[in-house]
Amino acid sequence: MSGSPLLAGVVGWPVGHSLSPLIHTIWADRAGVDGYYIPLAIEPDYDSFARAMDALDAVGFAGVNVTIPHKEHALRYAAVASDAARKAGAANMLTFAEDGPYADNSDIAGFAAAVREACDEQSLKSALILGAGGAARGVALALKELGVAALVVANRTRSKADDLAAAFGLTAVDWDDRDSTAGMADIIVNTTSLGMTGQPPLDFDLSAANKTALIADIVYSPLETPLLIAAKARDHPTVDGLSMLMHQAAPGFRAWFGAACRVDGALRADLVAELKRRSGP
Ligand code: NAP
Repeated sequence: MSGSPLLAGVVGWPVGHSLSPLIHTIWADRAGVDGYYIPLAIEPDYDSFARAMDALDAVGFAGVNVTIPHKEHALRYAAVASDAARKAGAANMLTFAEDGPYADNSDIAGFAAAVREACDEQSLKSALILGAGGAARGVALALKELGVAALVVANRTRSKADDLAAAFGLTAVDWDDRDSTAGMADIIVNTTSLGMTGQPPLDFDLSAANKTALIADIVYSPLETPLLIAAKARDHPTVDGLSMLMHQAAPGFRAWFGAACRVDGALRADLVAELKRRSGP
């Protein structure tokens, strides 16, 4: 592909909401990289995903980010997978390497980096994870990487909380016990889709939470979810979903465009402006 622009992208279904093309385009402009990062809507089944990956590899894509519902498909498609992707059971990066497609998971490091920016990780001994979907797996692994020893998960569907607890050594509690469990946690993380534009807010009472607990929400649209608004009103330190999103994007940019990139205030400001534009006047 000498002399041709570098190609990468994000695959999902739907994919139009993704901020990843903007993040990579900003970094490519900053680094003077001749590259394009393209959103690709690929139908939800594995065969459609595998056919699309074969085609992208054949036309010279360097790699893709993978989002819902293809994160498990990416792991299945890969010839080789990183420890992080195997442990999470899902990949959000697929690199078309010489010896076959390589799956990795940068959601874990992305969430860990967002938390490190907000607090001293040594202060985090206990956590409450709300939700037990795909993202919760990455968050649980990140919290373990940060050294959090006591992890509790609450999920609407109790069996999924039990599965997550069994896989990663967490304690599962009923969804109805989420408020009363809050007091044990140095960090509380919303990994459900509640609070996202078009979804009901997360019903969570912060009054029982430790006053210094870090409140994290991985939902980034809207940026200020009802949970984060309530947390700020009570003077909790907070982490929003945009921090994780920016940090998880960096390994893909470095791998596929071969240049340095930085998560900083200017990038955040551009993304916040785009989110505002999308939410209308
Ligand atoms: P998922 O696998 O579909 O899981 C959704 C979770 O939300 C499940 O735990 C589900 O509980 C829970 N939930 C949905 N509706 C609920 C309701 N009405 N009441 C209680 N719980 C409810 O989705 P995911 O991939 O984990 O993603 C979750 C969120 O994280 C999305 O908003 C996504 O955009 C965001 N995310 C952000 C980043 C980032 O970089 N910031 C990265 C990944 C994901 P049940 O098991 O009971 O259905």
